[in-house]
Amino acid sequence: MRKKIVAGNWKMNKTFPEAKELANAISSKLTEQGSTDCDVVIFPPYPFIGSMVDITNSSVMSVGAQNCSEHDSGAYTGEISLSMLESVGAKYVILGHSERREYFGEDNALLKDKVEKVLEAGLTPVFCCGESLEIRDTGHHEEFVKQQISDSTFNLSPEDFSKVVIAYEPIWAIGTGVTASSQQAQDMHKSIRETVATKYGSNIAENLTILYGGSCKPGNAKELFSCPDVDGGLIGGASLKVDDFVAIINSF
Ligand code: PEP
Repeated sequence: MRKKIVAGNWKMNKTFPEAKELANAISSKLTEQGSTDCDVVIFPPYPFIGSMVDITNSSVMSVGAQNCSEHDSGAYTGEISLSMLESVGAKYVILGHSERREYFGEDNALLKDKVEKVLEAGLTPVFCCGESLEIRDTGHHEEFVKQQISDSTFNLSPEDFSKVVIAYEPIWAIGTGVTASSQQAQDMHKSIRETVATKYGSNIAENLTILYGGSCKPGNAKELFSCPDVDGGLIGGASLKVDDFVAIINSF
């Protein structure tokens, strides 16, 4: 059964008191309204992960990290390992967000190592892919995204690949207010699923969760989520506002 997920990427936002208030408010609203038709995950900054796990209701939401080190432990000043994340209760890790690729030089080869590490630790990687406007304008965006996914995940065994979540995030739609149309999102998600089917077979492809990210808001979430190959969203800006984030969750 394909899992539906709405995930909030808080990026480098919020102080600790603000983060507690936001996580508490989301958790309480979801607890009050009872079951949701999707899994909910928040991705706060590293220092807050353990506390967010402690203060939120784990039956209505999980907590994840926005990145991780590809190393196990040791002399890597400033880095955070998978065993640290696992030990504070993180369940998911975002990998290859376009901001990490652009500002921190993360490439497909490094991300391949990180995907393996996350799976080894028993956490779920949310592997981000997506093209720039320049690439979309050349008409080769589907090949570009296919390459990102195959370079970083097609070394995995079928069993391991079936634990990966993909997030398609066109760079031109992230934080810009410009959303991919539901047709553009559906076309790319369908192409990703076909690529995965060719490599791993239709059963694994059909069960793969593919999230859309890029200026997803309460006003457009329902239309995006109703596309047959869109299984939820990775939400940036709107995940910082309780009402917007909960409205997006309820769009299912
Ligand atoms: C993101 O950065 O993952 C994202 C989708 O951001 P936004 O929703 O703000 O476009």
